[in-house]
Amino acid sequence: MTDGETWLNILARERTFRYNLSMEQSSLQTKNTYPTYPLAELHAHLGTSVAPPILWQIAHDRGIKLPKSEYHEFRDYITLSPERPMPLNDYFSQVYHNILDPLSSGTWAVESAVYNTMSGAYRNGIELIELRTNPMKHNFNNEVDLDHLIMAMLRGMERALLEHSKLSAGIIFCIAREFDVERNKIIIEKAIKYHKRGVVAIDIAGPGTPGFDITAYKDVFENARAAGLGITVHSGEALDANDMWEALENLRPSRIGHGILASRDPALMDELVTRGVVLEICPLSNLATAALANEEALRATLRTLVDHGVKFCINTDWPEVIEDGHLQKQYRMLLEKGMLTDAELRTSARTAFEASFIPGPGLSAYL
Ligand SMILES: [Zn+2]
Repeated sequence: MTDGETWLNILARERTFRYNLSMEQSSLQTKNTYPTYPLAELHAHLGTSVAPPILWQIAHDRGIKLPKSEYHEFRDYITLSPERPMPLNDYFSQVYHNILDPLSSGTWAVESAVYNTMSGAYRNGIELIELRTNPMKHNFNNEVDLDHLIMAMLRGMERALLEHSKLSAGIIFCIAREFDVERNKIIIEKAIKYHKRGVVAIDIAGPGTPGFDITAYKDVFENARAAGLGITVHSGEALDANDMWEALENLRPSRIGHGILASRDPALMDELVTRGVVLEICPLSNLATAALANEEALRATLRTLVDHGVKFCINTDWPEVIEDGHLQKQYRMLLEKGMLTDAELRTSARTAFEASFIPGPGLSAYL
């Protein structure tokens, strides 16, 4: 370690080294599909990362009544696409919190969901995945003890890491704008408690809520940072939760979830560049929730961020409930539609590896 060099710099450099190594190895493969280089997924939510057939199976294992009694109708009901968008808050209330969260709740469901999501991601070309979730939305309103639930998630992650030695993984805990400060503080305390076992960061998620005061979290986020946790914040996705300036000043995140609205604010883009903040861009999610009106709006957003030198990476947000939402497909779509060049997409992949909160490779990160 040289003067002025921090552990984070060193970790970032090591990740770049591992990434370069993977890039060389991947160029030896003869895949016909793009991308041929390894990907990192930094922004995916647990409840929307479980494939519809598995949700269907969980519902029938438990005898849970679904809004649709025929599988294909159920799949279409919970799946979004740019052609069939649904505003973010409508999706939250009708599908996400009513169907997806309960089906991915309880110790058995979260262990299986984390395991299946992480191992499935690896089979689809993702070598590093950070999966995020609010544990209090998966414990049946406190019927399930939170520690049992968190350990079940970690068991699912450990199993995926054992099965795929080239996979790196970590879990991010989201607090909710609609929760009160006391409940959110419990989630952050749990993140600190399980940090060494694989909870790598904290996040703020959820729709804009009157009364939510980001300054109330300044101290607890500092405690989390001191304990080694990374910090990201959902912001600048929808107009009702566009608190990016406040988030930067009060919580000093190194990443922002979405942040697309920064493209309309040159001073904010300058600030992101100065601070080296990485935006976790989720292209198809923004189209599916109409956060961006159409492909032209997506193209303009991406080009503006590139032109201003804002660092970003491409992610899925909701990989299994957006049609053609898998990360590889989104990289391919952005290339085919000329929104980003091959070089820019490779930079995005590299940025994701470098900005990851995961402290080391594979299972050894937590041993
Ligand atoms: Zn998100």
